[in-house]
Amino acid sequence: MTLSAEITRNARPYLHGPEFEAAAEAMRVGQYGHSETTERFEAELARYLGVPDVVAVASCTAALHLSLLVADVGPGDEVVVPSQTFCATIQAIISVGASPRFVEVSPRTSCVDGRAVGDALTPATRAVLPVLYGGRAVDLSAIRPVLQERRITVIEDAAHAFGSRTGDGPVGATGDLTCFSFGPIKNLTCVEGGAVVPRNPDEADALRELRTLGITQSQAERIRTTTYDVARHGLRATLSAVHAAVGIVQLQQFPAVAWRRQELWRAYAAGLARIGVDVVDVDIDRTVPFNCVVRIPQRDQVHAILTSMGVGAGVHYPPNHLQPAFAPWRRSLPATEQLGREILSLPFHPAMTTTDAADVVSLLDGALEEVR
Ligand SMILES: *Cc1c(COP(=O)(O)O)cnc(C)c1O
Repeated sequence: MTLSAEITRNARPYLHGPEFEAAAEAMRVGQYGHSETTERFEAELARYLGVPDVVAVASCTAALHLSLLVADVGPGDEVVVPSQTFCATIQAIISVGASPRFVEVSPRTSCVDGRAVGDALTPATRAVLPVLYGGRAVDLSAIRPVLQERRITVIEDAAHAFGSRTGDGPVGATGDLTCFSFGPIKNLTCVEGGAVVPRNPDEADALRELRTLGITQSQAERIRTTTYDVARHGLRATLSAVHAAVGIVQLQQFPAVAWRRQELWRAYAAGLARIGVDVVDVDIDRTVPFNCVVRIPQRDQVHAILTSMGVGAGVHYPPNHLQPAFAPWRRSLPATEQLGREILSLPFHPAMTTTDAADVVSLLDGALEEVR
């Protein structure tokens, strides 16, 4: 069987075409840093999500880092977080000097639930950082009253979840600090980029200072004066005009991408059910899925077979609590460790067709025959 080129890649950016001209135009204009184009992207994101404001930043890693800073999380504080996430989530916690308190996820969804989070709270807990794995919204309603009473901030890692919905509205519009990634393979790409949905105007102002090295004046104000004020600690985490220009085009075309991702995931789920393979559930009716992840006891062997055939199989992600960098916070997490051994991400990106998905399912079925 000749493989379709699309299934040789686990994931790849999906461009519609006008992104090239938009990026070129932003480069011709010549203002490459934060600009009016960045602000237009922020306004269009806010309109799409139905929220008052969105702060664009250089990456989701920066979005998480800045969110922890505005929530006043720092040394001595604990942040409840699943081990089952990209290492960027944990690095952001370490960056503010706080300690990750790793918790289990449900093997069915790869997401935390209210019970796991509630059990992990200690007097030092300052924030909870749910990861919307695969794009699935995380429902913490069962422990909201406790979190509110103890003034624990919820910061969502919604890197996978742009476009997904909760029972109450879009992810990002539910009143928490929500962080999105617009990196290369995410649902919406700026090439590189990210955004934070702030909870109120003061927080939005603070995030805007934090992303520009603590400088209080806007770009426009700085052009008119001979000095500027550095009011606080800050990072260099602005989103450039060139990246924002790409994002504006991607947002205009987003409904088609959302639809294709859902269609592809449903095609996979139907095929996987036929061959009796478990898939991590993303709540597809509400979710714009980032990936399609199966659970296979013989994962390493199947990964090797698929890879040798040129199929773009991957793993999202090896557990963080077992990484050397995070050893000080290691604890026993049997469900996460089992997931870490069993999960396999099938090729998944909007250029794939449902026929491609069916082909991957039959190649996977063949690989499973070999190892059984
Ligand atoms: C991609 C990703 C990030 C980091 O996003 P960047 O924009 O690359 O910094 C964080 N968390 C998760 C779960 C991710 O998949």
